[in-house]
Amino acid sequence: MKLMILGKNRTRCENKVVLFCIVFLIAISGSGCSHRKCKCLQADDRALASSWMHNAVEYEYINKSTYTAAKTALIRALEDTSVSASLEQEETGGYENLPPAVILDLDETVINNGPFQGYMVKNKENYSPELWKKWSDLKDAKPLAGAIDFLDFAIANGVTPIYVSNRIAAEEDNTIENLKTIGISTTREQVLLKNEHEDWTSDKRTRREHVARQYRILLLLGDDLNDFVSVKGLNTNDRNEKSLPYINNFGDKWFILPNPSYGSWEPAVYGGHYPGEYEKEHKMRVDSLKTFVPAETNCKH
Ligand SMILES: [Mg+2]
Repeated sequence: MKLMILGKNRTRCENKVVLFCIVFLIAISGSGCSHRKCKCLQADDRALASSWMHNAVEYEYINKSTYTAAKTALIRALEDTSVSASLEQEETGGYENLPPAVILDLDETVINNGPFQGYMVKNKENYSPELWKKWSDLKDAKPLAGAIDFLDFAIANGVTPIYVSNRIAAEEDNTIENLKTIGISTTREQVLLKNEHEDWTSDKRTRREHVARQYRILLLLGDDLNDFVSVKGLNTNDRNEKSLPYINNFGDKWFILPNPSYGSWEPAVYGGHYPGEYEKEHKMRVDSLKTFVPAETNCKH
């Protein structure tokens, strides 16, 4: 079918130019009728999450809100000696007259390792213990919003903070010094790191049991589900299912800080373990996304 705009009086060449312009204008117009497809770059997927944590003030406000809510919960738990935030302690009982403590994870719970994440993204490097040591040796991690205020409040109310972190035992002195530089004074007995004892594995259960023998555990605070209940190696569905019975603990005696940058949620997307290949991980991340089928767009208005 000939378009009217292609005039009989124009040369074949002029008509071709007009036709080209029409096709070009339709292509770039968008106008709700055609969906412009992005020419997706194979970007490092970690950049967006890190950018949010570095720049979005929302991240700070969520952290501050969480710690403010934790202070209120702390007062409630202090008054009710039947409360324990530890599943391990609930199993054993007999904790009512023990001195009160709160258990906190460290990284991305009390202190912020944003520059370490930023370095990995900018230099296209993966996590390695050697690289992590270079960062942790600097002892330059800053506190998360609300953390210092919460810890001061806990200590002022006679509650001992216990830090259960998967930093390794060899990092203990540096970690304590880092905490000191940001105003958190603590002892070696309060900092329980991975492999400090033979049975202190990355699963924090044995360390919670250790604390439970000495203290009544009022609250747990962390940025990973494993800071509350052991879900290591589980896929997304299984970790969801395992934590669901405790959903009401969150915001009551379990307080979780956001961490879209790393954590056990990520290998869960891959079925429980890292495949170790970027392309494969990227595909599995995309495949895991929920989507929808857009209705066909009607261009005739
Ligand atoms: Mg953490």
